[in-house]
This record gives sequence, C-alpha cells and structure tokens, in this order.
Amino acid sequence: MDFKNITVAGGGVLGSQIAFQTAYKGFNVNLYDINDEALAKAKERITNLKPYYKADLGITDEAFEEGFKRLSFNSDLSEAVKDADLVIEAIPEVPKIKTPFYEELGKVAPEKTVFVTNSSTLLPSQFAEATGRPGKFLALHFANEIWKNNTAEVMKHAGTEQVNFDRVMEFAKAIGMVALPLQKEQPGYILNSLLVPFLDAAELLLVKEVSDVHTIDKTWMIATGAPMGPFAILDVVGITTAYNIVRAKAEATGKDEFKQLVELLKTEYIDKGKLGRETGEGFYKYPNPAFMEKDFLK
Ligand code: NAD
Repeated sequence: MDFKNITVAGGGVLGSQIAFQTAYKGFNVNLYDINDEALAKAKERITNLKPYYKADLGITDEAFEEGFKRLSFNSDLSEAVKDADLVIEAIPEVPKIKTPFYEELGKVAPEKTVFVTNSSTLLPSQFAEATGRPGKFLALHFANEIWKNNTAEVMKHAGTEQVNFDRVMEFAKAIGMVALPLQKEQPGYILNSLLVPFLDAAELLLVKEVSDVHTIDKTWMIATGAPMGPFAILDVVGITTAYNIVRAKAEATGKDEFKQLVELLKTEYIDKGKLGRETGEGFYKYPNPAFMEKDFLK
C-alpha cells in the first residue's frame, strides 16, 4: 500500500469514525475541520468510540490509545494536507459547502494527493472539475459505525483513472473494510439502489392499506429467510431519514400516495416522538421488538 499519510476533512459523525479507524489500522491521520471548536468536538466523538471498539471488536485500552496517538488535528487546510497521499472528504452533504472546499483543496494539496468523497447522495462527477484533478478523484463511501458495518463502496466517475481506483480499493481493505467496486457512477451506490426502492415499496403497501406492518415484515422474513423485514430496517435507518426521502419524492413526483405517506409518517410517528430504534419506538417497540419474538413467524 503506497498511501501512508491520510487526511480526513470533517470530523463529524462519519469523519471521526473514518479518522480513528484509519489511525487504528496504522496510518498517520490528520483530521481537518473548520475551527478549534469543531476539532474539540471531533476529539470527543473519537474518545466516545472507545467503548464500542472494546465491546464490538474486543480491543484493549492500549490498542485504542495507540491508534489515538497516530491522529493529529488541524484547522489550517494547507497544513493538514501538506504531506497527504489521500484526502477523505466527510464534510456536510451540501454542494455549496463541498464545491468551494474542493476548489481550495485542489490549490493547496500536493500534486500527488488523491481525493475521495464519502458523500451518500451527491455524485463525484459534480465536483470533479472543482478538484482540478478529476483523474485522482472518486468516491469512497462508508456506512455508519464503520468498525462493524464495514462496507466501503468504491466508485469511479467517468474521469477517474483506473490506477487511482485500484489504490483506493487497496487502501479500503488495509483499513479493515470489505471493498466493493462500482465501475460506473450510480446514485445511491449499490446498497441504496437496492434498499430505497425496497423500503418505498413496503411503505406504499402500508399507506394504501393493502396490509399491515407485521404482515409485510413477516412475508419478507419467511419467504427470504432475512432476519428483518422492511419496517424493522426502517426503525434502524430512523423515521426522520425515511420521512425526508419520502417528502422529497412527494415533491418531485406530486404523487398522492407519497403525499399520504408523508402525512402518515409525520402524524403517527414523528409528532409522537417515535423515531425508530434509537428513541425506543418506531414501527416496533425496543429493546424487545415483536419481530424477534419466537412466535412472530408462525
Ligand atoms: P456531520 O454534520 O456529522 O459532520 C460534518 C463535519 O464537517 C462537521 O464536523 C463540520 O464542522 C465539518 N465541516 C463543515 N464545513 C466544513 C468545511 N468547509 N471544511 C471542513 N469541514 C467542514 O456530517 P456526517 O454525517 O459525518 O456526514 C459527512 C459526509 O459523510 C456527508 O457527505 C454524508 O453524506 C456522508 N455520510 C454520512 C453517513 C451518516 O450516517 N451520517 C453515512 C455515510 C456517508
């Protein structure tokens, strides 16, 4: 692996996880964020990962501290990237923030530096020109809680050079991810190209009153052997995210069924604080949801 020095831009939910996982796997990591306050928050987020690494991966305090020592924190972009072989961008999902960031990054980063975006919904081609180095730019998309949900979708845009795609694939493996190659640009990558239509279909069955939550989940679980049905998955994703996706669809398509779904999610779930597993209730009640009961599939 020829990458040694990695800069992570943005120390929020995902950036802090990516920075720590990369340092934990032996790379030198520079975490860049906009100011000292944001950096302090990122440090706190990383410290808070410790119990999860211990519980989920069984690592020792020493191993965690070793990883932490390979991290440095910087709010000056040119300082943060001056030796970077790779910059992983995990800043807000807002084009008006990402575009100027890439313009600036393209100017201050050494010529050798490869850039990747962790964007979930924006395509790399949208920023390729702003980077000033389209051949060295692509997507590397992680899932939340990367130490255990360790997928890394590696996706080209039309101008990405194969050699840099291969290097990023290798890097993703080196930090403990299962690297999943996407040879062409695809909105939603692989996972959300499958998951979003699947969840939409389940929600539409509900709103059209074709069937109910338990029956729909049971059908999927029995017929495919899956451990969870679509509504149990929606509880993990969070009802707020589901609501935002459906609302955007209602606006884009003007279809009544999506409008009714927006209304249902708002009045029956969001307004009642049932936001999914994290809040103890969504379509199911936690910690002992009905779909995990012994007789649920009977
Ligand atoms: P977040 O809001 O938690 O964190 C964003 C961070 O970026 C903050 O620390 C903020 O201070 C910093 N920031 C803001 N403007 C900046 C700038 N100009 N330069 C540098 N840093 C800046 O966001 P997040 O949830 O970590 O998402 C970040 C990216 O990761 C998004 O593109 C998102 O689509 C993607 N992503 C998120 C998830 C998730 O589950 N949260 C999963 C996969 C991918």
